[in-house]
Amino acid sequence: MVARKWETDVDRLTGNVLEELRAQNAMRGLGLEDDLLAGIAEQVAVNVDYAFECRWAPRWVREGQPHSWMEVVEGEERFHSECLTCGWLSQPARTAEAASHAFQAHRDAEH
Ligand SMILES: [Zn+2]
Repeated sequence: MVARKWETDVDRLTGNVLEELRAQNAMRGLGLEDDLLAGIAEQVAVNVDYAFECRWAPRWVREGQPHSWMEVVEGEERFHSECLTCGWLSQPARTAEAASHAFQAHRDAEH
């Protein structure tokens, strides 16, 4: 069973909008609660998708490479890799290198 972080493209869009709202909240010192930002992100994503039929297209990921990202959880950086062939997700790693290594091991074993 492959654990997926996102079930739909709208989930990915919601996460992307939420990341930007969090960044703007921090940079502008707005002090808005994360629950409020999450609610705004979800409504924006649903409305954009309803009007435009958005589809996730990670054009920045090269063939054979993972979709990689970092998030901050309770003040600590967590790095992730996602296999775009099968949807496999790495466990949260403390370094980008560790997440990349996990992806390579997955790729070597499964593809
Ligand atoms: Zn895979």
